[in-house]
Amino acid sequence: MTASGIDALKAALPAKAWTQDADVITPLLREWRDKYFGQTPILLTPGATDEVARAVAICAEHGLPIVPQGGNTGLVGGQTPQGEVLLSLKRMTAIREVNPVANAMTVEAGATLHTVHEAARSENRKFPLTLSSEGSCTVGGVLSTNAGGNHVLKYGTTKELVFGVEAVLADGSVFNGLSSLRKDNTGYDLSRLFLGAEGTLGIITAATLKLFPQPGHVARALIGVGSVADAVALLTRFRGPALAMFEVMPRIGLKAVTDNFEALRDPFTDAHPWYVLTDFEVDSADQGAALLTGLLQSAMEADLIRDAVLAQNDTQFQALGAIREHMSAGQKFLGGSIKQDITVPIDRIAEFFDRADRRVQTIVPNCRPVGFGHFGDGNIHYNIAQPASDDMAGDRPAFLAHWDAVSEAVFDIVDDLGGSISAEHGIGIMKRDTLARRADPVKLALMRRVKYALDPANIMNPRVMIQDFKG
Ligand SMILES: Cc1cc2nc3c(=O)[nH]c(=O)nc-3n(C[C@H](O)[C@H](O)[C@H](O)COP(=O)(O)OP(=O)(O)OC[C@H]3O[C@@H](n4cnc5c(N)ncnc54)[C@H](O)[C@@H]3O)c2cc1C
Repeated sequence: MTASGIDALKAALPAKAWTQDADVITPLLREWRDKYFGQTPILLTPGATDEVARAVAICAEHGLPIVPQGGNTGLVGGQTPQGEVLLSLKRMTAIREVNPVANAMTVEAGATLHTVHEAARSENRKFPLTLSSEGSCTVGGVLSTNAGGNHVLKYGTTKELVFGVEAVLADGSVFNGLSSLRKDNTGYDLSRLFLGAEGTLGIITAATLKLFPQPGHVARALIGVGSVADAVALLTRFRGPALAMFEVMPRIGLKAVTDNFEALRDPFTDAHPWYVLTDFEVDSADQGAALLTGLLQSAMEADLIRDAVLAQNDTQFQALGAIREHMSAGQKFLGGSIKQDITVPIDRIAEFFDRADRRVQTIVPNCRPVGFGHFGDGNIHYNIAQPASDDMAGDRPAFLAHWDAVSEAVFDIVDDLGGSISAEHGIGIMKRDTLARRADPVKLALMRRVKYALDPANIMNPRVMIQDFKG
């Protein structure tokens, strides 16, 4: 890290656009799960695209690597610098335009997902990407990780919700792909290169997002079911244009949440092995009640469900949703957790659980699988909590030492079932070497060529995603 490069950044940027104050920087060097801790010589906080461009041009000139950061909610370590310049987009939060005629919104990269939702709602529109981290995660982060969340089965992942991006390239030039055109066949779709690139190809400074009509009403139910297979059978019955969410949680996960967060209650009298949280977007409350009642009744007759509660008002709607939203936080009360974010074909979810649950027990006897998530997309957060009662209980480091062995065993099953080792969180540092071992060599070679074409000096988030970059 050259001192002259750091001095050049300080001289070229306004005082508000950089700091070396440890009190400001330190919280940004630690990620949500306390898995990665970083260091940086300087934090850049540009307030506009031209300041980002100026900063990147200086970094390029001095060979300074850069890690972009949004809300710091990423779960694969990609936003945590290890000596690189840390560039936060948090000051770039402007909503540049909400256009209800084109159903489009142009927004700067540092705006949170929550801000985007509110801005869309103010024009009676919906931006459908929904994550539990929406109060903190940013547009730049969700685009760069191609985030998924709860509504993918109806609206698709982030990639499908973006018209185009504005991005600062590795030489400091600015690519302007902002547009609300639904048809534009003028060559490569360059904006898409930056979606899911995790900051390795450039820094997203703004994006034009797709908006949708607000549904007239959302009907929500929490359903107790006996098995993963029953949950998947329910999904098949529920499929249709109104189905907007289908999330599944195990008993251990729901109990960890309702036991530990005072405001959250188990709405059922009896315990159930699995729970489905589902939303249907309809025109009116009456239509929603009729649809849900009919579906639940026929599923009950087919012996697929044990019990169900329907949200009758906004308070109940929020309370049921909060159980799912706290699923990650609730697991902290179960001790150490080895976490996986995988997809398998939906018709093989039950087989995945059967095989994975047995396999992980052979590595860590008495460990507690807490598999939950977006089953409507085949996406399982297959987390393993440390044993509750044996000599490893309480020994968090000893349990977490099994992270790689458990992950490899799970990935073997995922590969065998034709799934993906990263459903929605990305590759980052955590899965970089796994990707290099398991991905198609032609794909890996192509990724390196794209990376080299856009960032030949490898200054853009150089440690993530691509292993063995050779310029
Ligand atoms: C409680 C919780 C729930 C979550 N639920 C979900 C979920 O349901 N679905 C899901 O997909 N994810 C989920 N996540 C993960 C996380 O919220 C997403 O990955 C999110 O997209 C990260 O956004 P961020 O702004 O925090 O990005 P950061 O964490 O700051 O960065 C993530 C990556 O993007 C890069 N990056 C950030 N901003 C830019 C930019 N402007 N230009 C270029 N690169 C950039 C970083 O370098 C890093 O590689 C969850 C996380 C938490 C903590």
